[in-house]
Amino acid sequence: MKKEKSAMTKQSKEILVVEDSPVQAETLRRVLFENGYKVILAKNGAEGLETIRKKKPDLIISDILMPVMDGYQMCGKIKQSAELRNIPVLLLTQLVEPEEVIRGLESGADNYLTKPFNEVFLLSKVKTLLENPYRFKNRPDRKSIEFEYDGKRYEVHSGRSQTLSYLISTYQNAVLKTKEVESAREELRNINERLEEKVKERTAALISLNEDLSLEVAERKKAEETIRRMAYFDSLTSLPNKTHLYQYISNVLTENGSQKRPFALLMLDLNRFHEINEALGYHQGNDLLKIVGVRLQSLLNDIYMLARCNADVFAVMMPGVGSEYAVHLAREILKILDEPFDLSGLKLYVQASIGISLFPGHGNETDIIVRRAEMAMHRAKKESNAYSLFNEEFENGTSRRLAMAGDLRYAIENNELILYCQPKVDLKSGLICGAEALLRWQHAKHGMVSPIEFIPIAENTGLIKPLTYWVLDAAVRQCFAWQKENVEIPLAVNLSVRNLHDPLLIDKIKGMLITWGIKPSGLEVELTESAFTEDSAVYNTLTQIRNMGINIYIDDFGTGYSSLSYLQRLPINAIKVDKSFVFDMTKNEKSMNIINSTLGLARNMGLKVVAEGVEDKDIYNMLLDLGCNEAQGYYISKPMPIEQFQGWLEKSPWKIGRAV
Ligand code: C2E
Ligand code: MG
Ligand code: MG
Repeated sequence: MKKEKSAMTKQSKEILVVEDSPVQAETLRRVLFENGYKVILAKNGAEGLETIRKKKPDLIISDILMPVMDGYQMCGKIKQSAELRNIPVLLLTQLVEPEEVIRGLESGADNYLTKPFNEVFLLSKVKTLLENPYRFKNRPDRKSIEFEYDGKRYEVHSGRSQTLSYLISTYQNAVLKTKEVESAREELRNINERLEEKVKERTAALISLNEDLSLEVAERKKAEETIRRMAYFDSLTSLPNKTHLYQYISNVLTENGSQKRPFALLMLDLNRFHEINEALGYHQGNDLLKIVGVRLQSLLNDIYMLARCNADVFAVMMPGVGSEYAVHLAREILKILDEPFDLSGLKLYVQASIGISLFPGHGNETDIIVRRAEMAMHRAKKESNAYSLFNEEFENGTSRRLAMAGDLRYAIENNELILYCQPKVDLKSGLICGAEALLRWQHAKHGMVSPIEFIPIAENTGLIKPLTYWVLDAAVRQCFAWQKENVEIPLAVNLSVRNLHDPLLIDKIKGMLITWGIKPSGLEVELTESAFTEDSAVYNTLTQIRNMGINIYIDDFGTGYSSLSYLQRLPINAIKVDKSFVFDMTKNEKSMNIINSTLGLARNMGLKVVAEGVEDKDIYNMLLDLGCNEAQGYYISKPMPIEQFQGWLEKSPWKIGRAV
């Protein structure tokens, strides 16, 4: 209620704003309006006077510097008029010179305010002037005050209270200004302090940033060094790696330029290192490689670069060395490797194969020189020579192999594969009890190619899968054909270990048997002993084959160094003794011993024994005496194209004797 009343009183108060600047006038009008006053505007003193006469506002707020008539003049005229003098006048001035104050007093203004005005001050002054009208009414007693300032005479007609409040305003203003100056000074001081602090902070931050940066630079240098080491050195032996070796050979080749200084490259591979790894574990394998590295280095005495190229392959690059000295060094290396290695108390004998290639005799490009040293190394290994110097003949074999690999891809499409078979005889009864399917490749250029040559190529190129599917298909079709002619003997197909990793193999075999209506016992599989690894995939596939009812033979037994305990766990039915032992069993005691112990082992394990490579009657009879179960070999028949088998049977003295 109270608020409303005061709002209403305010509402009834009318204020005239005399201001030539529209912006100032608008600001004043807004502030006053928002605080409940009615506002009228005039643009200069003359217009102001006219409005005052007409409207008699409750308060006049006037600018000083204005065209036509300024604020002092207008105020003077108001205060001289008996009719208007009681209307309070508030002057707005930018000027704070004492002279201006005096001129204000002289004009009879009631109060003044400096621009830019503070809203709170303005409103409080407006309120005071409006609420104490009695101050302005008692004017007849006014006497003018005369005084001198700065050599000039002034006469002030304002009432005493007006003069006093005018002067108090001046004092207030001065105090305000002093405070403003002080707070500005304080602010400046603060800013300075903050600035100093900021500078300190920044300096500290810069110092620490600098420290961080130097740390980072050091770390980066370290990381670069590590990366360089990783790129060029082998982490296990700390020897230069293959990349480093290649770079070194390339550098020597470019440095050599036209001078053609010879050099020799020697590549060394540890024989059967994987077996050591498998038997003793990777840790011991790694330890062995480290010791080999140290031994080689001690011999080479840092004169030649020794590098570790991969797993168990080391290389020695010997600038300025010819064939004779390279061979001498190879022998020296072999000699120091002959000494047993001590691996956690275990004495280990290690053999190595070394290949040597020479610049410029064996090539003038890094790649060729390295490849030829490797080729020589493989040759040394294959022929059980301790070292071998590269020879161009090695390469002819390789290029034939490469060409064969290319051609093998089209062998199936071009109908170049032929299935042969070789009968097996049951020694006790002397009757034909089975046959082995053997693959042949009728090559357009090279004639009949032996599986000994193309099966390893197929295994290395992934072609073994389609090849085996072809053999299985041809074998099952043949079984079907034989069934119709009452030739009911099982046909054995050779599988490669890669086939046992084929997840589709089992379904493929099942599908073929169902399609042609062949009993699983009509098909057998042979797997060479060296293929048996302690691999769960191999074990699982064999178990599935066995569970289907297909008999499994371990082929070429005696050549693969299988662990007997592993063999015992395998789902196999028979062992085929390798022909290399059978050939000379009558002459070689060692071979005889192997055959005898195989027979003993098989008996213990409840397995059948088949001897392959039975070439004559003596061997046949001896095997019979020893209690071997079956025989296969030229004595009975050489392998023949499978479709000739029935014709052969009809003519041969051997008869079929075991129904499936
Ligand atoms: P293998 O499975 O041990 O086959 C026996 C090999 O011995 C055959 O060689 C056979 O011709 C030969 N042989 C048989 N009896 C005698 C004999 O009395 N004296 C002599 N000197 N040799 C005899 P072949 O046909 O050259 O096959 C060689 C090897 O190729 C086979 O050895 C087998 O491991 C592999 N092979 C053949 N066909 C296939 C196949 O379809 N798939 C796979 N993965 N390997 C096959
Ligand atoms: Mg075989
Ligand atoms: Mg064999």
